[in-house]
Amino acid sequence: MTVFKKIIDREIPAKIVYEDELCLAFHDVNPQAPTHILVIPKKEVRSLADIEEKDKDLMGHLLTIVSKLAKDFQLSEEGFRTVINAGDHGGQTVFHLHIHLLGGRKLSWPPG
Ligand code: AMP
Repeated sequence: MTVFKKIIDREIPAKIVYEDELCLAFHDVNPQAPTHILVIPKKEVRSLADIEEKDKDLMGHLLTIVSKLAKDFQLSEEGFRTVINAGDHGGQTVFHLHIHLLGGRKLSWPPG
């Protein structure tokens, strides 16, 4: 079981900022920007590489919530970044799909 599943099940604490029947959002424990939130599906999906046609509404919902949270955390005007790391080369460390929402400073590009 991943650490994110434990957060969904309230077995370990997290600073939760949003929840509905499909997803959960909470502050990253090791923030890489002044605002760093993770949006995750409650459904256990390992990675973006495992997404199937039947998940398209869920994926759309997750992005809608990212946009809502960007507004709620006053990131929309100056901008923000969303990241989904997938697999070893993508830098994924927790194998429960998650979208990073990063903002509050100017972010560099390209990634390393
Ligand atoms: P990734 O490297 O894309 O798989 O991202 C995993 C993210 O989860 C990292 O940014 C970690 O800091 C974050 N993380 C790991 N454990 C926790 C936790 N218990 N609560 C909040 N964020 C966590």
